Amino acid sequence: MLTQSISELKGIGEKLESQLNELGLFTIEDLLFYFPFRYDSYEVKPLTELTHNEKATIEGEVVSEPSLSFFGRKKSRLTFTLQVEQFAVKAVMFNRAFAKKQLHAGDTVTVTGKWDQQRLQITVSQFKKGESKSQAPIQPVYTLKEGVPLTTLRKYIKASIDAYEHEIPEILPEELQRAYKLPERPQAIRQMHYPDNRIMLKHAKRRFIYEEFLIFQLKMQLLRKHHRESTTGNAQSYDNGKLTSFVQALPFELTQAQKRSLAEILKDMKNPHRMNRLLQGDVGSGKTAVAAIALYASITAGKQGALMVPTEILAEQHFQSLMEMFEGRATVALLTGSIKGKKRREILESVRAGDIDILIGTHALIQDEVEFHDLGFVIVDEQHRFGVRQRRTLRDKGLYPDVLFMTATPIPRTLAITAFGDMDVSVIDEMPAGRKPVETYWVKGEMTDRVLSFIQKEIDQGHQAYVICPLIEESDQLDIQNAVELYNQLSSVYEPNIPVGLMHGRLHNEEKEEVMQEFAENRLKVLVSTTVVEVGVNVPNATVMVIYDAERFGLSQLHQLRGRVGRGSDQSYCILLADPKGDVGKERMRIMTETTDGFELSEQDLKLRGPGDFFGRKQSGMPEFKVADMVHDYRALETARRDAAEIITEERLDKDSRYRPLRDLIYQDKQIMGEVLD
Ligand code: ADP
Ligand code: MG
Repeated sequence: MLTQSISELKGIGEKLESQLNELGLFTIEDLLFYFPFRYDSYEVKPLTELTHNEKATIEGEVVSEPSLSFFGRKKSRLTFTLQVEQFAVKAVMFNRAFAKKQLHAGDTVTVTGKWDQQRLQITVSQFKKGESKSQAPIQPVYTLKEGVPLTTLRKYIKASIDAYEHEIPEILPEELQRAYKLPERPQAIRQMHYPDNRIMLKHAKRRFIYEEFLIFQLKMQLLRKHHRESTTGNAQSYDNGKLTSFVQALPFELTQAQKRSLAEILKDMKNPHRMNRLLQGDVGSGKTAVAAIALYASITAGKQGALMVPTEILAEQHFQSLMEMFEGRATVALLTGSIKGKKRREILESVRAGDIDILIGTHALIQDEVEFHDLGFVIVDEQHRFGVRQRRTLRDKGLYPDVLFMTATPIPRTLAITAFGDMDVSVIDEMPAGRKPVETYWVKGEMTDRVLSFIQKEIDQGHQAYVICPLIEESDQLDIQNAVELYNQLSSVYEPNIPVGLMHGRLHNEEKEEVMQEFAENRLKVLVSTTVVEVGVNVPNATVMVIYDAERFGLSQLHQLRGRVGRGSDQSYCILLADPKGDVGKERMRIMTETTDGFELSEQDLKLRGPGDFFGRKQSGMPEFKVADMVHDYRALETARRDAAEIITEERLDKDSRYRPLRDLIYQDKQIMGEVLD
């Protein structure tokens, strides 16, 4: 049985067992699926195809008796000449004096080692008598822990393949295997470890990439189907007439992309199943406008709505703008941690009684004390900042409310289908007309003076500027100290007629609000800030965004910050002060100056950082694949997604016995399936 402990293998004692356990290897199956992270190739190639200074394997005839010399206390050098093709190659072997007795003129040997193209010399690390045919040409290399030599791991993996190969179950139905010409599972496992050649290896990998993606997609889509079907009767019959008049009263015409997204959302609302949708769009693309219309729709259907945002400042801004939009149409209230006492009790009471139509707030919204009369629509802004549990808690406050997640972090399409495979996605990929793209420049730290005079020039023209100061990771304290220093510096650089403000996370809410208010009213010209201005804040008169030490920010964050400007009709500028050391840092700055398209940026970011880091270390829930790579194997992912959709729609997992093994495997995943099966 594949579930047997590795200690069943002859030769694995207690010590080795616990060492292997540390590598996550407990069962035979674990060993079989412990795939190499690379392969050493011992393929014999013609001398002309070898690369200087790289590892090579050659085969030849020993033409002279090896000569042995000693140096130092225990060191030795064995040299001999090999006839390879028509060349005489010098072979050098260190500290293996014993080999002198084994190698003689006339022997054929295969040697592996570092190749010196200029001197036609090889520094041998491995040798074997006889022709290369007698050796495995491609050798697996595994991730190791101290104490477990590579040869040991190879030995036991090989042993488990030999002993258990016939027990490895096939899980893909034949029709899929045949459609993509995938090798069978047992054979593919052997080839993953000991490939006969590169082509066999490629097919084995192809199989596991597809298998991993298919299983993943089936799980996600099952979950999604479950979300949809487990809830019925939440159709919201909104009032079309009122909705139309509301939209017409807006001071602008919706963009095509906004109209499309809105239609998708409204369709979900009308439908008796619960909506679980992600609304993606760049900063300023008009997501909030769409969300507000949807909220209003829900209110005309007699329901309440909730909007949860990550920061108090943002909550307050949304509160202000929604109050204006809903003037005379709906009652809006704000609930944050800093609203206390009698006022808080009153708000909670009115929400419970249904007197408040829309409640806006931070995490405060998910506390137990918050009870709705009839919550029908939930919006979670910047959803990646909240954990899965928090999102769910808010959702569970209503009886099957429709849920809309919003994010201004454009997520590459590649990641969106994996990360959010259980959601529907709407994308606003178009900016409202008349916006001028922000001009972005990257300058070295030594140009700071010129940057400061540029700010002065813009201010002289009536505009305002943000200055974001260096972010010091893990230290709130230092962040603030930095901000204060920069604030003092700029206050002394500029004349008193250019008032500078300071904003950071440690200010009290009233102070923050006051500073923001002063900046919004153009009483402050320059706002020195930490990244707290990152999300949401809207001051259209600000046309300059200067970011100190820009190399310390991720591309997405830089893009978010840049989104604070370019909100009005005047040309805006983003200046990145940065002295990146590495190539990746330079590349990031270059990309920032070349594109303002958030989706393009995120694709580039993904390429530079890889999917693991894309969401930062806090982000959970990104799947890990053994063989597949979401970016590189994107096409396979698409294929698997399509196939999974078909399998789910036709209910083959439950109805078609050929899909039984796949079904069993998927239903084993307690974490995901717990929700579906309970
Ligand atoms: P987001 O939430 O995507 O950052 P908002 O909905 O806050 O974007 O919109 C940004 C600004 O653009 C707001 O001032 C909003 O009133 C305005 N806006 C939204 N949609 C349009 C549109 N279709 N045409 C013009 N301005 C718009
Ligand atoms: Mg917004």
